Amino acid sequence: MDEFDERDVFGKTFECDCGRTHGIEPREVIYADNAIGRLPEVCARYADGRRAAMIMDVRTRRAAGAEAAAAMADAGWDVDEIVLEDPAPGKTPVCDDVTKTAIAPRAAGADLLVPVGSGVVGDTAKWLAMDSGVPYVTFATAASMNGYASPNIAPTIEGVKSLVYGRAPAAVLTSPTVLKNAPYEMTAAGLGDVLAKSVSSADWYLNHLLFDDYYCRRSVGLIAGIEPLYLDRPADLARGDETAMRALFDALLLTGVAMNMADTSFPASGGEHLISHSLDMMSSVDGVPHDLHGRQVGVGTILAAELYERLLAVESPELVDAPPGIDRAFWGPPADVVAGHYAGKADRLREAKELLAAGDAWDRLRAELSAMHRPPERIASCLSDAGAALKARELGIGRDRLLRALRHAHEIRSRFTVLDLAYLAGLMPAVASEIVEKWG
Ligand SMILES: [Zn+2]
Ligand SMILES: [Zn+2]
Repeated sequence: MDEFDERDVFGKTFECDCGRTHGIEPREVIYADNAIGRLPEVCARYADGRRAAMIMDVRTRRAAGAEAAAAMADAGWDVDEIVLEDPAPGKTPVCDDVTKTAIAPRAAGADLLVPVGSGVVGDTAKWLAMDSGVPYVTFATAASMNGYASPNIAPTIEGVKSLVYGRAPAAVLTSPTVLKNAPYEMTAAGLGDVLAKSVSSADWYLNHLLFDDYYCRRSVGLIAGIEPLYLDRPADLARGDETAMRALFDALLLTGVAMNMADTSFPASGGEHLISHSLDMMSSVDGVPHDLHGRQVGVGTILAAELYERLLAVESPELVDAPPGIDRAFWGPPADVVAGHYAGKADRLREAKELLAAGDAWDRLRAELSAMHRPPERIASCLSDAGAALKARELGIGRDRLLRALRHAHEIRSRFTVLDLAYLAGLMPAVASEIVEKWG
C-alpha cells in the first residue's frame, strides 16, 4: 500500500496488506471553529430530504445542540430536537433498550439523524440509525471516547453491557472551542480510552497468534505518528493546548476507524475494557454510580498492563483449566446472559490451553507480545500528568469493588483476552489482589 497521511484517510478506499480492501468511514471530518455553521451544508450531502432528528441531552444542548439546531432550522431544515432527559437529579442518561424504544418513533420519520453529544447520545443515535436505515452525521461535544468514528455501539440491554455493530457516521464535525469548554474530566477520559490501545492491540494480536484470527497491522499502526503528541506531553492536555487536544481527538477518531477497518472492536477494546464494562454492569445491578467510560478504561488499562507484565515474566507457566463457569451469585439478575457470553468462549479456552502447552508456543508468544507491551508505569504516569483518574477512589469506588471487577471481568464476554490468558497461566485470580493493592 502507498504511504498516506493518517489524518487524511477519511472517505478513502485502499487495498491493505491484510488482504482486505478498506473503505474508510466517516467520509469526512470537520474540525473547525465554524463547524456549527457548516453543519447544514455537510448534512445536505448525506440526506435525501430535509427532516433532521437532532439528538442531545440537556448539557450537550447547552454546549452546542441548541445552536446547531438553530443553524439547521435557519438553513431550511425541519428540525425535531430530541432531548434525552436526566433520569433523576444527578443522574445522566444511559444508552439502553428502554431509551431507544422511547424515541424510536420520532427518529423513524427523519431523513437524517444528527447526534450532538458524546458517548451516550452518539451511541443512541447510532443504534437508531442502524435499526431504521437512516444516515447520520455526528457533532462531537467532547474528546471523551473513541466511539465517534466507530461502528460499535455499547448499549445496556436487559441490564447487560452489550456490544452491537452499527455503522460509522457519514461525517463527524466538532469545534475546538466546544471540545475545550467540555468538562476537563471528559478530555481526561478520552485519554484513558486511547491509552487502552496498547493492551487491546496486544489482546487482538494474542488472538491472531493463538487462533490465527484475522489481524490488520495497518489499523493497529494508524495512530503511531500522533500518539507522541499526547503520550509524551500529557500536561499539555491539562492546559488545553491546541496541538495536544487536536492530537487526542484525531487519535479518538482513528482508533474508531481502526475498529471499522477490522470489522471488530478488537483494535481498541480488550481486557481493559471488560474491567470498565464490569464496573458499569455492577452499577446497573446495585445502583452504585459508575464513572465515565474512559476514566474507568484508563484504570483498567493500568491493571491489564500489569497483568501482561507479570505474564510476560513467566518463563514456563503451569497451565490450568479456565474456570468452568461464572459466579452467578456475583452477577445476580443478569447472570444468565453473562453465563451465555462466557460459555461462548469455552472452546477457545480449551484450545488455548492445548496450544500454549505445545512446543515453544509460550516462548514465541512472550517474544511477540513483549514487543508490543507498554509498561503500566508509563500508562499511569501519562494519566497522572494529564490529571486523569488513576485510583479506585478517584473513580468514586473502594478497592474491593475494583478488585471484584478485575476478578469477574473475563466472564462478561466471549472475547479471549489477557484476563483469560492470566487464568490459564494460573496467575488469576490470585494476583488480582496484589495488582489492585499496587495500582488501585
Ligand atoms: Zn488491513
Ligand atoms: Zn472505549
